[in-house]
Amino acid sequence: MKTRFLIGSGKAALIRTLCLCFGLLLLNLLPAPAFATTPTTEPADIAALRASQARSAADLRLQAIKLRNTVKDPKHRAWAALALAEFENDLENADAALAMLTQAYNEAENLKLDDLKFLSLNARSTILVNRGRSDETDAVLKEMKAMVDAGGGARPEWQAQWLDQRGVLERKLGHFDSSLDYFRQSLGIYRKLKDPANMARELNSIGVIHGRTGKFSDAVVAHTEALELSRKAGDRAETARGLRMLGVLYRNLDDEELGSQSLLEGLAYVEERNVREAITLHGELSKSLTLLDRMSEAEYHAQQAVKLSKLSGSPPNRVNSYARMAELKLAQGKIDDADYWTKLGFESFNDVAIRDQTLLLFTQAKVSAARGQSEKALKEAQNTLVNVRKIGDRILERAVLDLLAEQQLKVGDAASAYITRKEHQALDKALSIDMAARKISALEGKLERERSEAERAMLERDNAVQALTLSRQRLLGMALIAGLAVLLVIAGLLYWRYLSVKRSEAEISASRDKLAKMHTSLIDSSAALERVAHTDALTGLGNRHALTKKMEQCLAKGTEQRRGICIQLLDLDFFKQINDKHGHLAGDAVLREVAARLTATLPANTAIGRWGGEEFILLFEQIHHADAMAIAEKVRQVIAATPVIFENQSIHISTSIGIACNRDLNAHSTDPLLAAADAALYRAKNNGRNRVETSAG
Ligand code: GH3
Ligand code: MG
Ligand code: MG
Repeated sequence: MKTRFLIGSGKAALIRTLCLCFGLLLLNLLPAPAFATTPTTEPADIAALRASQARSAADLRLQAIKLRNTVKDPKHRAWAALALAEFENDLENADAALAMLTQAYNEAENLKLDDLKFLSLNARSTILVNRGRSDETDAVLKEMKAMVDAGGGARPEWQAQWLDQRGVLERKLGHFDSSLDYFRQSLGIYRKLKDPANMARELNSIGVIHGRTGKFSDAVVAHTEALELSRKAGDRAETARGLRMLGVLYRNLDDEELGSQSLLEGLAYVEERNVREAITLHGELSKSLTLLDRMSEAEYHAQQAVKLSKLSGSPPNRVNSYARMAELKLAQGKIDDADYWTKLGFESFNDVAIRDQTLLLFTQAKVSAARGQSEKALKEAQNTLVNVRKIGDRILERAVLDLLAEQQLKVGDAASAYITRKEHQALDKALSIDMAARKISALEGKLERERSEAERAMLERDNAVQALTLSRQRLLGMALIAGLAVLLVIAGLLYWRYLSVKRSEAEISASRDKLAKMHTSLIDSSAALERVAHTDALTGLGNRHALTKKMEQCLAKGTEQRRGICIQLLDLDFFKQINDKHGHLAGDAVLREVAARLTATLPANTAIGRWGGEEFILLFEQIHHADAMAIAEKVRQVIAATPVIFENQSIHISTSIGIACNRDLNAHSTDPLLAAADAALYRAKNNGRNRVETSAG
């Protein structure tokens, strides 16, 4: 029944199940749908060139120039202009970069390449903001904003880029709150776009602001998340930047050891093209190592920063690396050297933003203080303080107030020194939460780091588990299908076997019936044959063969019997005449009638046979001679008493009978018995027929 169900009515359900399994399997195997990206008109080779980090900016610049000069397609050429501008900027050829951006912008406008136009504005903004050209940056940002608004939200990545640039400008202007706001908005868009590299950039920018405003633990959280994302996105430049920022943060948290570790790790992520990051990292490392009193290492990194910034460094790079070298020299007590590097920094003073200017001013004040030029140091410290307050860097402000109070005291202005100390104290108080919380923040940061590490590990494990689950589901699906297929095959085989067994059973029973019938008919026919072989066809009596056999059997057991065996041979009288007078058929009728009279007259167990022709034989067992004589006499009378009627003819018949008994003869076989009976019969004929004669007589 089960087999029938699977093959018959269950077939459709089985197919449905299989389809479902295959469907699920396919769903599992298909990749998750990707988020739609805004199409770009940028040729692939240009995009690859711009993204390239492992080649030097000089190499890339040559490649871009070659493209710009050889490609025929004006759109392709316009994009090559953007690439070239970016490489020029990397090489700190700001003017060349800006000129090339103007070309890219104009060509984009003519060719209606909006994305190129926007990117060239973006690049222009980056260059300008890094060189402290805030007003020009602001103008560019306004144009970018107009494009964003004209797009009506169709380009969320434009909106995000504009917000980021705006945030950078606000930070350079020292507007930390609004800067933070822009970065956060930009981050929100990148989160929606699921863009980990840009999310990392915004988070790092947010972390920087937190670090400068004393919100150390927020900063650690932001940078830690940024690091995870940039590593996930494979963005080495952003990873290096994140590690640098974390390094600076740890240093501000008085953990110089951890700080320098992060900075060193950051250096390992810096690639050929990213010279700016290398310079910054070397500079920061030098500062941390100085604090750790590892002066020779500090010296090495300060020199690396200077070397790279002299070769190809942006103005802020140069200002920073020279200021760093100056401070190192101060720490080493080499005031002249410090003075030299400070002056070198001032050569780029007008090409950098207010923050870098402030740092340089502070270094200058420290050099003057170290020289004992208190009046000069005092003035410079006061200038620095004005700038520091503009940019809102509280960590830096505290250090400047410290120097200022010291110089005020030195020039004998105790009253001002007192006020400055009060201010210092107020800031300390404002910062005190943060300062007192520094260690806590550091601990929190550490905890947060460990937490996010654990989370990451857990996520990885989750992913692994999920992957395992998925693959197990896939395996299960496949196993299910394989199992169902095997089941189907087995069911088919079983059904086929069931059918063939049924068939053979029917065949076997049919042949058994046939065999039985054959057997029966064989028995029947053998019985018929037996009957035919022992029966006389005309009279239906036993024939000579049957009677001889019977005689032999009786004689064999006759020795054990008390009474003997007697036979009677009958021969019809003048039968030839009956045939001649009434015809052969009448003769046959007579023979049949005699047989009938014998059967009717004699006891049931009497063996009666036709001996041949018109002769009959009777066989009696367990009989005395006298009884046999009486029976013979009776038989003779019965036959002779009534004529046979055949076709209205009355035919008179009679018989002669010869009797022989074995006891009388002491005979043990048929031959002497038959011979004796035949002799007695002969005597009966001779003595007048229609009479009985016996061998004993
Ligand atoms: P007897 O009194 O001396 O016996 O004379 P009979 O005529 O009977 O003598 P016999 O024995 O010479 O003849 C027997 C005849 O019986 C010969 C034969 O034609 C005939 N006969 C033998 N068998 C059959 C048979 O099956 N049917 C018929 N119709 N006649 C038979
Ligand atoms: Mg005869
Ligand atoms: Mg005869």
